[in-house]
Amino acid sequence: MLTRRQFLIGLGAVVVTAAVPLGWLHYDAVTRANEKNGKAAPKGGKNGAQEDPKGQDQDPENASNTGPACDWVIDQVLIIDGSGQPPYHGKVAVKGDKIVAIGDFPLPSRVKVIDGKNLALAPGFIDLHTHTEDYLYAGGNMSPFLSQGITTQIGGNCGRSPKDIAGFFATVPKLPINYGLLMGYTTLRQLVHGRDRSGKTTLKEQGQMQEHLAKALADGAVGLSVGLEYWPQTYATTEELISLCQVVKDAGGFYSTHIRSEYDGVLEALEEAILIANTVGIPMQYCHIKVGYERNWDKFPRVLSMLTEAHKSGLDITADVYAYTYSSTDLSKTPFVPSISEENLELALAHPLVAIASDSGMYAGMRATHPRAYGNVPRFLGHYVREKKLLSLEAAVAKLTSLPARRLGLTDRGLIKEGYQADLVLFDPATIIDKATREKPSVFSEGVRQVWVNGNLAWADGKLLNDSSGRPLKKK
Ligand SMILES: [Zn+2]
Repeated sequence: MLTRRQFLIGLGAVVVTAAVPLGWLHYDAVTRANEKNGKAAPKGGKNGAQEDPKGQDQDPENASNTGPACDWVIDQVLIIDGSGQPPYHGKVAVKGDKIVAIGDFPLPSRVKVIDGKNLALAPGFIDLHTHTEDYLYAGGNMSPFLSQGITTQIGGNCGRSPKDIAGFFATVPKLPINYGLLMGYTTLRQLVHGRDRSGKTTLKEQGQMQEHLAKALADGAVGLSVGLEYWPQTYATTEELISLCQVVKDAGGFYSTHIRSEYDGVLEALEEAILIANTVGIPMQYCHIKVGYERNWDKFPRVLSMLTEAHKSGLDITADVYAYTYSSTDLSKTPFVPSISEENLELALAHPLVAIASDSGMYAGMRATHPRAYGNVPRFLGHYVREKKLLSLEAAVAKLTSLPARRLGLTDRGLIKEGYQADLVLFDPATIIDKATREKPSVFSEGVRQVWVNGNLAWADGKLLNDSSGRPLKKK
């Protein structure tokens, strides 16, 4: 019989599994133990986490019951706490919007108990890179994202954002999930120029842009975003970006960069981005990493090693990637463009500094044009983690939770931890998978059972139950 390692080598997956195989083995052991005890994972279509019909209320006469004061408990669930540590079985108790107890404790009296048997519980997933601000502002209910277990998103990426950050949050119809905004470079230009134009900005204009940026950050923007491949952002100079990043650094935000080239000039473009971040000493998010055109594919390992080296030298740098080899633009006649090779995508998905983010927008008629809007997380967890075994389940969950939470400076989300916000996702690791395709991009995924946002059940078994439990995520 092959050992597990030989099996993985046979799959050609040794490069990426070598770093983090232990947790996955632990997860397999847990699954096997459950199967041995006859607790087979429920097959599709059946609810895995119904409330007990009798409510499982505990006997109020039982004086020895000293469980935590709470509103509800998820019982017998595999807890993947977001830290990257191996999962374990236990209970999680929630009171109001907070997690109040984790592990092994007596079930308290008269609380709702949710059966988590054969399911996993993770912190709500955090999607750092989206273009959903217009969709949300138009009243979008975020079902595509809630259905994947996403409870927090950041919009305003690649240089385009609302002009008035405070105004956005004051007038957005509802927040189905927690939502934060970056301030965009193009938007800053528009605030100064009105209708934008080609050409470099003058020093005077740069000063005005800095003022607008400082106001946006004071209003809660989490940082500055750029998309330097797009007109007119192509005119932004390195010096200008350094001066804007200084304002962001002073306010405690981060620099989110779609670098100047994701094709032939990718290495020089990444060098510029690292130079800017190093000069200012600002945390940096390198967005939707990719290297387009086959002639550039062999540059990608160098991209990843530059990321690692910059991090080792002390720069607070992380990146993000989506779990597809093609990108899309809404207006193009050829909607899907190859963006990365499969081999490079797998290297990125497994890299410890790379978070998983969708880069998705929702466009005309609230339709998705790319399946990532409905399938990014289940595709990562189902296809790449369970089927291809690129990394352990707990390492994968960390890329969806604590890693992006650290980028945002969150100290109350991204982990299952006492005192943290009860953003939680209950899912079946044995069945979670994406169903959206290029031909049919707006199809819900399978395997996510229940999703809570700030303690409220927002999504359960394919249905939206609550569309207003999110909160503005503002930089403090
Ligand atoms: Zn971009």
